[in-house]
Amino acid sequence: MTTPIEVTEDIVSKTTCPYCGVGCGVIVSRDKGTYKVRGNPDHPSNQGRLCSKGTALAETLDDEGRMLYPQINGLKSSWGQAYELMAKRFKSCIKKYGPGSVAMYVSGQLLTEDYYVANKFMKGFVGTANIDTNSRLCMSSVVAGQKRAYGTDTVPCSYEDIDRTNLVVIVGSNTAWCHPVIFQRIRQAQKNNPNLDVVVIDPRRTATCDIAGMHLAINSGKDSYLFNGLLAYLNDKGEVNRPFVDNCVEGFDAALDSAYDSSGEITRVSKECGLSVEQLEQFYALFARKEKVITLFSQGINQSTSGTDKVNAIINCHLLSGRIGRPGMGAFSLTGQPNAMGGREVGGLSNQLTAHMDLENKEHRSLVQQHWNSPLIADTPGYKAVDLFEAILKDKVKALWVIGTNPAVSMPNNSRVREALSHCELLVVQDCMQNTDTADLAHILLPASTWGERDGMVTNSERRISRQRSFRKAPGEALPDWKIISSVAQEMGFEKEFNYNNPREIFNEFAVLSGKENNGTRDFDISACADIDDKAYDLFVPSQWPITFNQPTGTKRLFEDGQFFTATRKAKMVAINPASAANLPNEEYPLILNTGRIRDQWHTMTRTGKSPTLSTHYPEAFLQLHPVDATKHNISVDDLVCVSSEWGEVTLRALISDDIPRGMVFAPMHWNDQYASNASIGRIVNPATDPFSGQPEFKHTPVRVKRIHKAWYGFLLSRRQLDLSTQDYWNLNKGNGLWRYEMAGNDTPKNWADNARTLLCANDDNVSWMEYFDQSAQCYRAARLVGDSLESCIFISPDPHLPSRDWLMALFKNDGLDDKDKMFLLSGRASDSSEDAGTSVCACFSVGKNTIVKAIQEKNITTVDEIGKQLQAGTNCGSCIPELTALLKEVTGSN
Ligand code: SF4
Repeated sequence: MTTPIEVTEDIVSKTTCPYCGVGCGVIVSRDKGTYKVRGNPDHPSNQGRLCSKGTALAETLDDEGRMLYPQINGLKSSWGQAYELMAKRFKSCIKKYGPGSVAMYVSGQLLTEDYYVANKFMKGFVGTANIDTNSRLCMSSVVAGQKRAYGTDTVPCSYEDIDRTNLVVIVGSNTAWCHPVIFQRIRQAQKNNPNLDVVVIDPRRTATCDIAGMHLAINSGKDSYLFNGLLAYLNDKGEVNRPFVDNCVEGFDAALDSAYDSSGEITRVSKECGLSVEQLEQFYALFARKEKVITLFSQGINQSTSGTDKVNAIINCHLLSGRIGRPGMGAFSLTGQPNAMGGREVGGLSNQLTAHMDLENKEHRSLVQQHWNSPLIADTPGYKAVDLFEAILKDKVKALWVIGTNPAVSMPNNSRVREALSHCELLVVQDCMQNTDTADLAHILLPASTWGERDGMVTNSERRISRQRSFRKAPGEALPDWKIISSVAQEMGFEKEFNYNNPREIFNEFAVLSGKENNGTRDFDISACADIDDKAYDLFVPSQWPITFNQPTGTKRLFEDGQFFTATRKAKMVAINPASAANLPNEEYPLILNTGRIRDQWHTMTRTGKSPTLSTHYPEAFLQLHPVDATKHNISVDDLVCVSSEWGEVTLRALISDDIPRGMVFAPMHWNDQYASNASIGRIVNPATDPFSGQPEFKHTPVRVKRIHKAWYGFLLSRRQLDLSTQDYWNLNKGNGLWRYEMAGNDTPKNWADNARTLLCANDDNVSWMEYFDQSAQCYRAARLVGDSLESCIFISPDPHLPSRDWLMALFKNDGLDDKDKMFLLSGRASDSSEDAGTSVCACFSVGKNTIVKAIQEKNITTVDEIGKQLQAGTNCGSCIPELTALLKEVTGSN
């Protein structure tokens, strides 16, 4: 863990990755003026590892597309004008309609100090709990489930437990893509411990299955049947940990009764889950046999109308068997965002109060109000995300302040959310990017600083608080979020209460509150940080809360003493009656839409979309569907598909694979109107929510699919960014030194040569054109050269199967084309096929599929390690190892 780093360049910062909840420590250095990012071997959460997204962070450190100054109704303003107008409008709203007419919608991307100030402002000074966060979309079922079971929103485990367990059950999580460094850690633990088994429970065969001895391809949404069945099985087999249950657990009988009711018959579980009795018995026996079991779960569990129940169905099994609070055991929620956990700590959800205190608890309210010296304190929960946008449409909320998130894309039924955003009397959007689907609708825009420019804390999945540190100046007039919020609060008259000079002062205030009248009654306590000064804040060592004077270096594992945070100090098993998804497939919408992340993109692509390296893995928004479903709907690879639900429709490229079960389709969540004509998947996701947590059901929307026929299909590669938004279909991404556009149109232009010049905004001075047109086949190809250098090219055909873009894209790296390249340019194929590396597999070393296949064939490679030795692929972040394994199997026919 303390491996010395060979320093060959200037280290400018040790900070934390801004993407997922793994919370990896990164080292940023500068070499000849260029930033470089690598994993920090001293950070306990990643021990030097990074995934492809973390590795490519340096590519996102530019100011392209940044919001640079405040704007009011599209015109540049000063900060003073923006603050003054906001204060005036918020005050008039509150006076006219009451505090509940104002709301904030914030983000798990915020730092803890930003989040704390936003929450303090709304709940203590505006006087409403109408502040919700996009963590509602990914973590709120865990919060609700853990509070029911433990009395508090507590994740009991540490990543270290992965190294110490004998069985990892991964349920509802494509860990290999969504939490890649955890995945790498499990893989390493497997190498170190031959007794470690891995089970993956997921309807899809994902990259995570690469390390699994058992994959249970469960029917969508049936997890509660499976875990209720496990509970009954453990009881039948005498696996109840009697001393633990008798002394530390309540609700045992009721939970067991429900488990037997729904899942006492293994044949019923088999039918509901779509798994064989043998598979179930094998899994149940494995869980019973291995005392040290960790169940890792994520959005596949949470994003459901019964997500909270599913969380408790899992926790029940750990409580009954006493597999909690000891090394290598526990139900372990993997958080989605970098600071989803920090947001929960400060009460960022509309039904929480700061420092894990309860809004409904009078004593908690008065304690917080006293600490804040606030004139009032919200005493009833505010609107949860989906309800918030409905409340705007019903004129209950008039003014909305959105910070660091993009609800016009990420919310379900997002056309209605866009309607709500347009309906606001006042919409303020605070973001680091100028153009987002949400920012495009705002009256007031406020430029915020972002990763690399701001200072503060984040908390990851294992409760570890780490520093994000600034190392570069924010562009233009961008300011840290805490500063902007505090300034508006001061403008509204709360000068003293928001008079912060730096985030350290905010953190101190928060830490003091966490320890107030706590005495071990609340899980969240960081009172040992109450007095840290600037230097200690700067040097803060990543530590897991609670951080108290008794445990100043933090706490690895919770509930070791069998004491929980309920009134009785006992954990609660919850009776679970498995429920169906809110909207079931029917004749009109026969397929189930599942949504999720892909390996190399993050959220709505505002940062990852800037990285050419990350844009090569899946360059285009797609729909994954099973070959049988594809045939049934007359859909072939590369076809465009209209996917529609009761809530809207999107257009995606078909990707056919038997990794997905029949009856289900999968689409990524990332694309939006900045990157594609109509691929924002939230447009068709149903807005049904979990009754306890309010978390939407992103994993289960009934849809239908239909092949779309276009008059022409094409792609365009250009060194300059173009505006192709008038095309019927377009998809944009950034390559190395170029922009890549996929396109399709309903009508064939009269003259392709003219049309190409219009599309390329071509000024023909000093350029030469190469063109090819086959009139009968209606195929048009052209390249535009400046000197010998390829400036842009366009390929059009009535058939969607066009030449590979990879070789053509590689030509943009060359200063000039040689005669051979020019000769083959319009064929779209290299003279020597080995020059076409193929689609990117390894993002870190830009190794393409064709290169890997060729190496496997020519060098008789039989292992992933050998691929690494030959081509470097898979030897840095390891995120592509599952794909390398799959390629090996495909080429060699091995198992
Ligand atoms: S796993 Fe990847 S995205 Fe997540 S924190 Fe680590 S480097 Fe960042």
